[in-house]
Amino acid sequence: TTVFVSGATGFIALHVVDKLLREGYKVIGSARSQEKCDELLQKFNYNPSISTEIVPDISNLAAFDDVFKKHGHEIKIVLHTASPFRFDVNDYGKDLLIPAVNGTKSVLNAIKKYGAQSVERVVVTSSVAAQINIKGANRDDLVLTEESWNDATWENCQTDPMAVYCASKTFAERAAWDFIRENKDQVIFKLSTVLPVYVFGPQLFPEPSKKELNTSSEIINQIVHADKDTELMQLNGGFIDVRDVAKAHLLAFQKDECASQRLSLHGGMFATQDFLDIINEDFSQLRGKIPVGKPGTGKLITSKGYQINNDKTKKLLGFPFIGLRECVDDSVSQILKMEDMT
Ligand code: NDP
Repeated sequence: TTVFVSGATGFIALHVVDKLLREGYKVIGSARSQEKCDELLQKFNYNPSISTEIVPDISNLAAFDDVFKKHGHEIKIVLHTASPFRFDVNDYGKDLLIPAVNGTKSVLNAIKKYGAQSVERVVVTSSVAAQINIKGANRDDLVLTEESWNDATWENCQTDPMAVYCASKTFAERAAWDFIRENKDQVIFKLSTVLPVYVFGPQLFPEPSKKELNTSSEIINQIVHADKDTELMQLNGGFIDVRDVAKAHLLAFQKDECASQRLSLHGGMFATQDFLDIINEDFSQLRGKIPVGKPGTGKLITSKGYQINNDKTKKLLGFPFIGLRECVDDSVSQILKMEDMT
């Protein structure tokens, strides 16, 4: 069975591709340049089951046409993970909103044009960002479920990069469900979306030369490198381990009951303080070097504000999620190993 993975170079996508290869799938991965494609093949040790296609710009509404013109007949599964997840942007439309939305539209339209009768399942990587309008995030009575939607609009979201990113994921996921409604007689595939909260955990291929990691992993990287007197940014929200996110991307298309579902990937709440507590307890080499904060007060922070109920998803997926300590420990061990500090 052949699976197409867009944005195959990403933090999450690399784990997805690895799992697909291990389970015997053939993978076609897209990346933005020849160089990135070559690097990808090299990382997977030139495994003959993976090939690549260059898709330079997902903002282009015909971005995926060539890939599907060439491979549409053989691709049965499409996993659309490519989307910008960064906050250092200049132009909200050009850098976040348009690639997110047009990327989703272009992959679905390419299927309609060249794989309408062969693509059976599509999984779009959405986000908790599509479930919540962060401007109302700290309401104690708010419980997010698989039915929740961020109500941001194109006009009112453009206040700061975080709000725009959340809106970009919302509009992209909406575009996918709208596409299904509008084209249900013209394509045979079933859609599922996966909505992870903050994703942490080890990189599939640690790169010692890489000083800055992907946006979510960089949160832990910053703490590991913070001086003990630094005033850390206080962050809290849900966490999920990248290895579970990869598993869920596969189950989303493998299980019949996951078809047409939004899968909320959430392993529990965290606050920056929980990271500090775990790292200070488990890594003696960092003790005294990084901040301690106010040990034990994480629970106080995470008991306030919105909560997430994803019982429905957990039942559909049927496997237990990795806990916070294991997720943080494995992330930090890898960072330290990369720096040869252990
Ligand atoms: P990465 O930044 O590691 O991966 C993003 C991928 O999308 C990369 O392959 C990147 O290519 C590609 N991409 C981004 N912008 C463009 C563009 N304009 N044109 C073409 N390709 C582009 O992040 P993650 O792995 O974390 O993110 C993967 C998906 O998961 C995204 O859809 C993200 O929104 C979603 N997500 C992530 C969460 C997290 O905490 N990490 C939480 C919830 C959802 P390149 O490598 O060339 O930059």
